[in-house]
Amino acid sequence: MVNLTDLQFDQQHIWHPYTSMTQPLPTFKVKRAQGVMIELEDGRQLIDGMSSWWCAIHGYNHPELNQAVTDQLQQMSHIMFGGLTHDPAIQLAKLLLKITPPSLDKIFFADSGSVAVEVALKMAVQYWASLHQPNKTNFVTPRSGYHGDTWNAMSVCDPVTGMHQIFGSSLPNRIFVPAPQIGFDQVWNPMDIAELEKTLAEQHENIAGLILEPIVQGAGGMRFYHPEYLRQAKLLCEKYNILLIFDEIATGFGRTGKLFAWEWAAVEPDIMCIGKGLTGGYMTLSATLTTQKVANTISQGEAGVFMHGPTFMANPLACAVALKSTQLLMQQDWASNIQRIEQQLKLGLSSLAKLNYVQDVRILGAIGVVELTFNVDMKTLQQEFVRRGIWIRPFGKLVYVMPPYIISEYELKILLEQMVEVVKNMGQSV
Ligand code: PMP
Repeated sequence: MVNLTDLQFDQQHIWHPYTSMTQPLPTFKVKRAQGVMIELEDGRQLIDGMSSWWCAIHGYNHPELNQAVTDQLQQMSHIMFGGLTHDPAIQLAKLLLKITPPSLDKIFFADSGSVAVEVALKMAVQYWASLHQPNKTNFVTPRSGYHGDTWNAMSVCDPVTGMHQIFGSSLPNRIFVPAPQIGFDQVWNPMDIAELEKTLAEQHENIAGLILEPIVQGAGGMRFYHPEYLRQAKLLCEKYNILLIFDEIATGFGRTGKLFAWEWAAVEPDIMCIGKGLTGGYMTLSATLTTQKVANTISQGEAGVFMHGPTFMANPLACAVALKSTQLLMQQDWASNIQRIEQQLKLGLSSLAKLNYVQDVRILGAIGVVELTFNVDMKTLQQEFVRRGIWIRPFGKLVYVMPPYIISEYELKILLEQMVEVVKNMGQSV
């Protein structure tokens, strides 16, 4: 093999998320990360605005999380979950069941967000099969959603911005309703739910569940919608015998200003998926929670068991660090801290709203979104952010931040000042 630099090797041989192998986007080599800072191999320091895609809520290289992993490593890094159990899984389950909706009573640990979604969809189908309603196999979902990259998760992603165009008829045909249009702070209008009602009335006999991301639609457009949508959706699900599935993989663990986004509407789902921030960004772990009713129905059905069991189910290392991360969060006044970040995001980004090429600036909890009127040039913009010492990865028309919760006022000030300058400078080329 010719002598390549590591970065050249990376470009030529390693696939990165959503990239081309012939025209890969540039990557920056990271040496280490500490707190809110990412250190590149050439010594440059970047303030992290992304929390590694919603995950690193306590920042990087956290001494207590490191200790939790180290301690668990001395006991066992992994053990199969079939026929065996362990303290990290038990203690984590106890804590998660305490802080999630009270009616959720059973927990299934899985490996990633996408798999948690697969598990949720399978639970819903098995639930109705157990009740001798084998036609209830399809799913309804609002447009602009995102639920992951595995086959069924993909099938319920937005059919336009998602992957439907590429995968076409190989994907199961789901039922899409319009995305919620009434914003989080706007005045509720019942028309927002009308199409869902009509769809459920017409097709409920074939629908197992309604899956959605409560309050914040993440990768499908970073949209914040009205809590009343969830209350109405719950009533409709009860009326038409549909299971309600909340995907809280991105919204969980305080990000929106509530511990989980369902709390904005006080609506409890039948099934809920969590992931991402669960391990504080240390490693991959997710969970699907459900009610006793759903679990018992599946268990008393013809199959008698729930048909899923990943090799790395409830991996002890991941459970141990998830337990510590969640304990760390619960020990602090996380809500005031998220409010502090929210206030600073509002102050720091508001000046962009008046630019004629800025469609919208919206903030909720520790999420700050600037939506432009055009698609950004990710490559150029990312290089410019790095040049200015910040790490932000825009996509589509969106330039957004969701920093680790440990970000200081000063670090957030620098992050936002640099972001604002870059967005303002874009005006020169518009
Ligand atoms: N659901 C939502 C709402 C997500 O944001 C994501 C990840 N972006 C997923 C599911 C999929 O999670 P993972 O990438 O861990 O498979």
